[in-house]
Amino acid sequence: MTLLIVAALPALRRLSVSITGARRAPNILLITLDTTRADHLPAYGYQLGRTPNLDRLAAGGVLFERAVAAAPITLASHVSLFTSLYPFAHGVRNNGSAALSDKLPTLATALHDRGYRTAAFVSAFVVDRRFGLARGFDRYDDRLETRGRGTTVEVERRGDRTGLAAEEWLSQSAAARQSPFFVWLHLYDPHDPYDPPPPFRDAFADRPYDGEIAFDDSVVGSMLDRLDRLGVLSSTIVAVAGDHGESLGDHGEVTHAMFVYEPALRVPLILWWPGHLPSAKRVTQLVRTIDLAPTLLDLAGAPALPGAGGQSLMPLVRGETPGPGTAYAETYFPLFYMNWAPLRSIQDDRWKYIAAPSEELYDLSIDPREQTNIAPREPGRAAALREALAALEARKRQAGQKGPQSVTAAPMDRETAQKLAALGYVGAASVPPTHAGNSGDLDASSQRPDPKAMIGVFNRLRRANAAVHEGRLAEAEAVARDILDQDRQNAFATLILASSLMEQGRYREAIERYRGYSALVPTSADAHHWMAICQLNLGDRDRALAEESAALAIDPRDSDARMLRGGLLAERGRVDEAISDLEAAIEAEPNKSAFRVGLARILTNARRFDEADREYQRALTLEPDSPDAHSGYGVLLAARGQPDRAVAEFERSLELRPDDDETRLRLAGILAGIGRRQEARTEYARLASGPGTPSDIRATARDKLAELGARR
Ligand SMILES: [Zn+2]
Repeated sequence: MTLLIVAALPALRRLSVSITGARRAPNILLITLDTTRADHLPAYGYQLGRTPNLDRLAAGGVLFERAVAAAPITLASHVSLFTSLYPFAHGVRNNGSAALSDKLPTLATALHDRGYRTAAFVSAFVVDRRFGLARGFDRYDDRLETRGRGTTVEVERRGDRTGLAAEEWLSQSAAARQSPFFVWLHLYDPHDPYDPPPPFRDAFADRPYDGEIAFDDSVVGSMLDRLDRLGVLSSTIVAVAGDHGESLGDHGEVTHAMFVYEPALRVPLILWWPGHLPSAKRVTQLVRTIDLAPTLLDLAGAPALPGAGGQSLMPLVRGETPGPGTAYAETYFPLFYMNWAPLRSIQDDRWKYIAAPSEELYDLSIDPREQTNIAPREPGRAAALREALAALEARKRQAGQKGPQSVTAAPMDRETAQKLAALGYVGAASVPPTHAGNSGDLDASSQRPDPKAMIGVFNRLRRANAAVHEGRLAEAEAVARDILDQDRQNAFATLILASSLMEQGRYREAIERYRGYSALVPTSADAHHWMAICQLNLGDRDRALAEESAALAIDPRDSDARMLRGGLLAERGRVDEAISDLEAAIEAEPNKSAFRVGLARILTNARRFDEADREYQRALTLEPDSPDAHSGYGVLLAARGQPDRAVAEFERSLELRPDDDETRLRLAGILAGIGRRQEARTEYARLASGPGTPSDIRATARDKLAELGARR
């Protein structure tokens, strides 16, 4: 990688930025580093990291030593960064169940309005366009990748690939130099699981989290090199910010979201623009990520966001003002996922107060790791900060912020829940029963368990949830039962128990538990969908149909429920209803080949061959290696009297999925029918002796083999 040449800056160069009408506004590259805690970067004093590119940005720019994120939740924090509002003002306090209101201006809409060409390249489903951050971007690239084994949903994208997409856009668009660009690059790699690609995997074998950060640093380096080669680096402001940190076991928290302690809130914040911003400047005062958008707009010479909660940091950088003074942060994750009390915190240059059922106060000047709660010793100071917190929230309400003030806890659609769960957002399907579908009294937090007293329970459930996914079902079941013994109403434990039972094939018991979960969380379409699958496995197709209808009554967008119900309706000859279910599923997710294959099968059975053919073509375009599409298409071709083409499709399908006995049986039948008896015999023989072949197929194969043999 070529080294960046950081412009050496004359020491006393004017710091203020004056952008006159004659001079073009600067380009802006905003890089958000997901899940990156500040004190794991060498630029923040960490000895064990390796981040040469971030180091260089810090050496050539301004580093904020004490930057605080508004929430340890990816979506909430990014929305705060883009709107310059705290979560209580913009209303997005959770991943997945709320989207940013289209009435609030953002950094992207403001720059777009100023004539910027805007593009975003994001790496995780949590910031998918459906959650509202795409507004203001000409291009919002949220294409993701299927990850690893067992995960069938696309949930994240590796940083180098996201970076490459951004670089390609820049290469194409840097030619059009008449207007400046704003690019947001979101890198997600340090989020758990920590599994950096080579060479970082080996170099950081004992500290994979740091390896992920080192990997993302290399993506940053590649991006800066590209800007340099395009000749636009010197006219580009580079801003690097974290969305939240990672607890890594501090206070008993493994990852992030449950607590508002510093490891989860303290994030990197670096601004770089040689010649315009000072170099090697370290700002020690407290600042907030909600101050970043106002700062960038200030540097770009654009007006501030109306109603912004943050402020430009340029006066602070110039030493003219003391900075914002206080920072607020919150997490509603405990409430949304566990029905425990939410946490809110406020800190100033020295003190930090956390509003919880058992309130906390820390003197960060002597206790930066928040080990000694001095709230009981310092009741006056705790009270003052408690009041400051209340005043902050009240002021936002009176200011008539346009954003929703209440917590939105709309039912989450199944796909969203599944994708969040695949990202490790445990229990993502649950919405606390007392808040389902309404905005409740969230200040009555003292009635709920205190997260810090419950973290052990949460960690056990987290491990049990992972155990279900990894097939350690007895272990998951035991943990869930143990927790339910103490807390019968624990929805997350109920869900884990139900899914571990289902995975063990104990469908009746699973149904009972899913029914319990459904009572606790009536907004869950998921519970009904899983009950339908259990009923199907028990052979009760009437009940399965009823459960899918219940799921669709809760969430008509539940495309998996549509798909399954469509199949059940088709079996009963209710073809039109079946087709309309499948069409609804396709409308919801036009790029999912499985739904098109499902529809094509029904159309084939209804002898609507041309339409079926069209759907198979679309399915195969979307997913050329889908064994289901190839085998289904083979069935259609056979029905249309094209046995040779059918054979080719069946063979392709079996290449992709050799243990598909039903397709092999079909292939053998067609081969026999067109006189390719030896090949047919081979396939039947394989089925007749296959140890895993279902007994009915094996019996059929033996009969056919005898028949073919007799006629030899
Ligand atoms: Zn995040």
